Amino acid sequence: MRFSDTIGNRKAVEQVRRLIDSGRLPHALLLHGAPGVPKLALARAAAQYLHCTNRHDGDSCGECPSCRQHQSGNNTDTFFSFPYIKPKNASSDKVYYCDDYFSEWNEFLAQCPQLEDYQKWLALLRNDNAQPKIVVAESSAIVRKMSLTSMSGQDKVLIMWLPEKMTEEAANKLLKLIEEPYDDCRFILVSDNAQAILPTIYSRVQRIELKPLSTDEIAHYLERRHHLAWQDAVAVAGPAAGNALEAERALDEGNENQEFHNRFVELMRLAYQRDLARLRLWAETIAEMKREKARRFLAYCARQTRENFFYNLHLPGLTYLTRAEEQFSARFSPFINEQNVERIYGEFNRAENDIQGNGNARIILYDMAVAITILIKV
Ligand SMILES: [Zn+2]
Repeated sequence: MRFSDTIGNRKAVEQVRRLIDSGRLPHALLLHGAPGVPKLALARAAAQYLHCTNRHDGDSCGECPSCRQHQSGNNTDTFFSFPYIKPKNASSDKVYYCDDYFSEWNEFLAQCPQLEDYQKWLALLRNDNAQPKIVVAESSAIVRKMSLTSMSGQDKVLIMWLPEKMTEEAANKLLKLIEEPYDDCRFILVSDNAQAILPTIYSRVQRIELKPLSTDEIAHYLERRHHLAWQDAVAVAGPAAGNALEAERALDEGNENQEFHNRFVELMRLAYQRDLARLRLWAETIAEMKREKARRFLAYCARQTRENFFYNLHLPGLTYLTRAEEQFSARFSPFINEQNVERIYGEFNRAENDIQGNGNARIILYDMAVAITILIKV
């Protein structure tokens, strides 16, 4: 990660760069700002810049052996620490450290290199109910690592993501090291919520606050990362109020909505044509969705059924349709009427419940589609 790959907050980037250039990078630096403000990428860029053997134009070179190591996630002098939880099936006496999550962490950095997304991290940990923490065992591992002599003779950097999730015991274990660090140790803490960091740690770190991104900065990010046209990127970025993660979520929902609309239209066309062979294929395609997504889709279909009924009653004030949906409804809505609206709605609801109950999705969806071929002609 180079400084030029980070998004927004040029002032903070410049501050970090100058600290390193002048040899005044503190032993413990805190980069903090609200969720949805990229910070982890700056911490990684700082470590890469610190280690780069051929810095130029105010950035790391991206090509020296050290930069290459950083870019492939295996620089021997850079360590990552982050909240984690024991796997569900772990035996109770095995002790876990961040190093046990090496592949998940690399996957995480690959999934969201410029903008850390805690929800994505939770998904990679695959343990829905527990609260990830940085525990005392990890602090001990950090103390051990930081006391080893660096093979390359470079400073060792520990990047800790979300120090606010450290337990008190874990924080106490680290205090001495943060207070009286070895000369060649650097801590870079990256926080979404600096106020939640234990005061003993917070009071011992130099702090740089990162500000919410501007609409243009988010739009540039969406344009580059998600290949959006500039105008579309601005339309998504605007309502996100500086939170780039909000913009990404809105984008995901928008894409999903479009996909659901296409599938709904396909279902209704095939049902009207009574094309059972293609309805079977349709059911198979939907059955391949993850269960949660299939349920969201069926909820979408149920909602569209009602929207079309209201549309048909010429009560446009009651309907919430996108432009594409409305174009379809203008032609389709006459097929949803008082005689069939509740029954079609009921078919979608029942399928949603049956899929939630772990039924065979293909059979449930095909039966539902066949029922709709009859109801649509009522
Ligand atoms: Zn380099």
